[in-house]
Amino acid sequence: MEHLSFCLVCGGNHISKELSCKDFVASTEAFDLHRCADCSFLFTNPRPSVQEIGPYYQSDRYVSHAGSKDGFSFVYKVYDLVRDYSIGRKIKLIKSFHSSGDIMDLGCGLGYFLNALHKDGSFRPVGVDVSEDAVNYVRENFGLTVKGETELDAFAPKSFDVITQWHVLEHVHALNERMQQLKRLLKKDGTLFIAVPNSNSWDAKHYGAYWDGYDVPRHLYHFNKKSFGLLMQNHGFRIVQTRAMVFDAPYISMRSEVHKGGSAAFLRGAASGILSTMNAWVSGNYSSLLFVVKNIL
Ligand SMILES: [Zn+2]
Repeated sequence: MEHLSFCLVCGGNHISKELSCKDFVASTEAFDLHRCADCSFLFTNPRPSVQEIGPYYQSDRYVSHAGSKDGFSFVYKVYDLVRDYSIGRKIKLIKSFHSSGDIMDLGCGLGYFLNALHKDGSFRPVGVDVSEDAVNYVRENFGLTVKGETELDAFAPKSFDVITQWHVLEHVHALNERMQQLKRLLKKDGTLFIAVPNSNSWDAKHYGAYWDGYDVPRHLYHFNKKSFGLLMQNHGFRIVQTRAMVFDAPYISMRSEVHKGGSAAFLRGAASGILSTMNAWVSGNYSSLLFVVKNIL
C-alpha cells in the first residue's frame, strides 16, 4: 500500500481522515478517505500502488458489463439503453466547440464512445486505454485505432484538438504527470472534456460510506468543483463550462442502494437520483460533473 503524506493538488500536509468506505465490488476491504484542509481535496489514503491495484479491477463492473447475470444486470441494461443517448449528447457538446479535428478518448474502455465518433465521421478518433484486454477488444470488435497508455508519450506535442476522459481521471495514480501529458498533447486552442464523480453532490452526502461514486480503492480521488478547478489551474488550464452528467445520479444512487442492502433499490435509487438532480439545479453540484477545460492563454 502507498501512503500519501501530502495533498496531490495543493501540496499541503494538513490532511486527516474523513470517512472509511468498503470496496463493494471486488474485495470487501475497507479504505479510508483523507481530506486536505487547505484545498478540500478528498482522496483514498492509503491506496494500492500501481503494482497492487490489478486484482481490485477483477469484477463485472470493470471487466465487462455484457452478459452480467448478477443482481446488477437490470441496472446495466438500463445503463446500456441510456448510454447511446449519452454518447450522442457528448458528441453534440464537442461539436459546439470543434467541428472537426483529432480526438483522443483517453481511457476508452470497450470503445463505445470511440466507435460512435468514428461513425459520426466528423473527427479523426484515437483511443487509449491502460487495459491490454480493452485495447485488443476495441481493435478486434470495432477495428479502430487504439493504443496502450504506455504509448502516450510517443504522440507528438499538440497532436489533439480534443481529449476526452469520461470517468477516468479519478483512477490515475500519477495525477499531476497525467495533467502534464494532457498539457503536452493538447493543441493551444484545444479542449478537454473531463467527467468525474462529484463528492459534494446531494447523493454523496445522502449515502455517505455507501455512495457508489467513492468506488474504493479504484477511485483514488473524489473531486469537487474547488479541488478540480485548482488542479486544472495548477497545470495551466481553466474551466470554461461545468455541466451535468444527467444519467449518473439515478445510476449511482441505485448502486448505492444495493450497497446499503435495503429493499426496493431500484425505486429508492430512482427517487434519490431525482432529488439529487433537483438539488443540483440550485447548487450546481450534480452527482457527476463534466468539465469543459481550455488552456490558459
Ligand atoms: Zn490540498
